Amino acid sequence: MRAIPISFPNDFLWGVSTSSHQFEGGNEFNQWKDWERAGRIRCGGGSGVACDWWRNAERDLDLCRDLGLNAIRISLEWSRIEPAFARWNEDALRRYREIIVQAKQRGMRVFVTLHHFTHPRWFEARGGFLDAEAPRLFYHYARQAVRSLGDLVTDWVTFNEPNVYAAFGYLFGEFPPGRVNEMNAALGAYAAMMQAHAAAYDAIHEERPDAKVGMAVHYVVFEPERDDVLDRQLASAYDTLFNRAPLHYLLGEPLPLPFALMAPSVPQAAGKIDFIGLNVYNRLHVRFPLGEKAGPGGIWVPPHLPQGDRGAVAPYGEAYPAVVAAAISTYAALRCPMYVMENGVPDREDRIRPWVLVNSLKELRRMWQLGHDVRGYFHWSLVDNFEWSEGWGLRFGLYELDLESGERRARPSAALYRQIIADGGIRRETLEQWGDLQSRGESAAGD
Ligand code: BGC
Repeated sequence: MRAIPISFPNDFLWGVSTSSHQFEGGNEFNQWKDWERAGRIRCGGGSGVACDWWRNAERDLDLCRDLGLNAIRISLEWSRIEPAFARWNEDALRRYREIIVQAKQRGMRVFVTLHHFTHPRWFEARGGFLDAEAPRLFYHYARQAVRSLGDLVTDWVTFNEPNVYAAFGYLFGEFPPGRVNEMNAALGAYAAMMQAHAAAYDAIHEERPDAKVGMAVHYVVFEPERDDVLDRQLASAYDTLFNRAPLHYLLGEPLPLPFALMAPSVPQAAGKIDFIGLNVYNRLHVRFPLGEKAGPGGIWVPPHLPQGDRGAVAPYGEAYPAVVAAAISTYAALRCPMYVMENGVPDREDRIRPWVLVNSLKELRRMWQLGHDVRGYFHWSLVDNFEWSEGWGLRFGLYELDLESGERRARPSAALYRQIIADGGIRRETLEQWGDLQSRGESAAGD
């Protein structure tokens, strides 16, 4: 038998993550469609038919089966299910049932996210999560979803990355509603999403007491560039607000000062978590004062560090497998099961994706061996998809998507992931080949 030095438990979940707007195509009723029409996608164009899942998710579910996956994470498009206030679209719910059944028939446990950055246009028009009614409206949507699909699905993710949504929508202007430097609004939206999470947690458990309800947070390592008090303070403020705010809310603790004075408290979120999803990709470097060589917020990525492909105006981030361990050790405080719910890199040529995959899994396995309850790994993503404001410029797929023909071509990482899954771990020769980027004598750095 082949020696597998890095092996995973038999019931470990091997998956990919996806989301409705990035994969389905033809989404006409959400706020992102308006953002695309307003010309806010850097490479031009929009989500279009995306990966054509609304018509044919089954083609990609076959690829998942070929990879040997036993899990997949999809999201529901609220704007399909409730295209107008309180009008429920049974056809849309039927199609979601079909997709979920098809995934299960191919051997996958299906994790379902309720909100992955998009929501109905009518909800945005009321002010999105800044509308006082937002948690109640989200409760009704969650209840409808679980009533329709709860016999098929046990694992529910209420929100994908409320921290990214709040920062990109209200501080950086990269996501709708496109507001910039509005800290109060960002903190308000963040807290409202935690309220909505608590409401959806209740809705799901009222219908299905056995369901498991979690959320997915994006976790970034913020590295002070110099050993200098201002760089360190800035990095620590980002860490508190971006990485740790959901943790404090879920533990029922106030945010550390001075943020507790600025952010609304959400006592009803305390303890409402059955598992946590960790979306882990990057390290970002932080330098004070802002400006100079750093980008907005004093954030930048030194060009010599490993990076996938650059975004249209800024680097995507330093690809940093050690972020897996940082996120796990921080969120272990919740004492609930954890999943790496997204991990990957934009990498059209598949230069460093195998390195990211192998080393992120190594980190995960190391944390599991230390006793952390990490139960699965979901790669972002199966196939190239619509990458928000970056449009089709950044390619995250294990499979390359030809936008003209719709053809899928496996990148080498697809075969590597398939082999890891089949072996239940990482072979010695793979570790030798991909353990260390430098020894490959390749330029891993961005340009
Ligand atoms: C998001 C995905 C996105 C991925 C790659 C995550 O933050 O949840 O929607 O495509 O990162 O940028």
